[in-house]
Amino acid sequence: MSKGIISNMLTKQNELARNAIEEIQKAYKEDSRPWIVGYSGGKDSTVVVQLIFDALCDLPKNELHKKVYVISSDTLVETPLIINSINQTLRRIQDEALKRGLPLETHKVKPKIDQSFWVNIIGRGYPSPNQQFRWCTDRLKIDPANQFVLDKVSDFGEVIMILGVREDESVSRGNTIRSHTISGKLFMKHTTLANAYVYAPIRYFSVDDVWDYLLNYPSPWGDDNYELYSLYQDSNSGECPLVIDKATKDQAGSCGNSRFGCWVCTVVNEDKALNGFIQNGHDWLKPLLDFRNWLTGIRDDRTRRMKYRMHGQVYFNEVKVEEIDGTDYVVVPKKGSRRKDLIKLEEYSIIKRTELNSYLNANNIDLSAAGDHKLLVTYKEEGLDGEELTKYAQLGLGPYTFEARKEILNNLLKVQKEVQHPDDPHFELIKKEELIEIRKIWLKNGDWEDSLPSIYSEVMGYEEDWDVVEKPIFEKDQISDLELLCDEYNLDINVIKQLVSIEKAYSGLKVRRGLMDEIRKTLTQDYLHL
Ligand code: SF4
Repeated sequence: MSKGIISNMLTKQNELARNAIEEIQKAYKEDSRPWIVGYSGGKDSTVVVQLIFDALCDLPKNELHKKVYVISSDTLVETPLIINSINQTLRRIQDEALKRGLPLETHKVKPKIDQSFWVNIIGRGYPSPNQQFRWCTDRLKIDPANQFVLDKVSDFGEVIMILGVREDESVSRGNTIRSHTISGKLFMKHTTLANAYVYAPIRYFSVDDVWDYLLNYPSPWGDDNYELYSLYQDSNSGECPLVIDKATKDQAGSCGNSRFGCWVCTVVNEDKALNGFIQNGHDWLKPLLDFRNWLTGIRDDRTRRMKYRMHGQVYFNEVKVEEIDGTDYVVVPKKGSRRKDLIKLEEYSIIKRTELNSYLNANNIDLSAAGDHKLLVTYKEEGLDGEELTKYAQLGLGPYTFEARKEILNNLLKVQKEVQHPDDPHFELIKKEELIEIRKIWLKNGDWEDSLPSIYSEVMGYEEDWDVVEKPIFEKDQISDLELLCDEYNLDINVIKQLVSIEKAYSGLKVRRGLMDEIRKTLTQDYLHL
């Protein structure tokens, strides 16, 4: 490359950076609303924080009149090396800001423990997230960030959120940014949060502009932007923005499709977050990758899923039956990494939809337990030309069975025991607070044997000191007596357990409002009245 071209490029780059910094200074001085900047560790948010830092440094001290909060999200399942580097950067930004007297504060936002990835999967049995049921982004990223914003709104009345979004990232991203922009104004209305506005200082930057800026202007807090550059080069992956606007979430695809996602992300088919690091020699991460692949693999395993939804609703999925060479097959369609499969129709028990209940009772089938009874129900439907068609359907899937949840915990703890973080001897995959929460949920849902402490001590080889010591409701022999009684009277033991847990939760309370509602909900669960 000739010298002339380089200097032209630098001049153009200088101008772009200068304009961006001037615009940021103007926006900053415009009012007293504090700024909240989302920092993910990726290139776009790094540019934004660096531009703001530079802009504030150039302002006279008496004009630094309001706070800029730099927030990063920690989903509690972040890729280990990435979260370390984000922590380090946040510390450096904070130290440098203090040194230079800038009104800048760094914060980490985390999901509430009862909404963490593991509490939802192992505690409540949520199936691991995928493209169709991506429950994680809201709970792990958006809600915690929004809570931070709402807290600031309640302190200051209004806030400005600074996002590292760019129009050229994708057509839909560009359209979203444009649709929220009020002409002539720097700030856009936040799509869901009242009293929050959005400012996108690099909306007109191209990806080349981003790298030009990062590689030509050293990080004021002493990070090496070339390291970030090489991270992108060998991960060939996208950005994982700290999504703080639901409208941008939908265009973001999976934030797991990058080095900056969660290590356990099951939304993507191939995990780039861990693979890239392992290929670069971080072999200690291999057990995490194996576990993540296993978790993805069991997601649609019918034997590990309940056959009704969390609150007892039963639903049916129509299945296709195809005749091939004189044999009827049930077609299991391709989904994610699962291949299309054909299962002989004769392997199924086929019952009329209206006879399902008596069939389940007669065969003592518990829809919440492990296993798949290979049941198909039939019903009649009128075809387009008025003829009557026989349709086949199978019970739709619900949360993981209790057995599967115990298995996931068991395997996760095994990985935790095995994994050797080179720099952090206290590295853990699941926190004790999460285990305590999971234990509470299990106890409430009828785990009267209190399985969690024993799974833990069996895998880890030592007893943990569990703070919440819930006295078991019944002793072991009382539980088996109760099970026998349920058998004798043809009652569902799970319902009895739920009823006893509800009564226990309300016992001792003066006002027991809500008790009857909960009992009614339990007794009217769909699956009990098929
Ligand atoms: S990285 Fe994957 S698991 Fe984590 S929040 Fe994003 S989509 Fe969900």
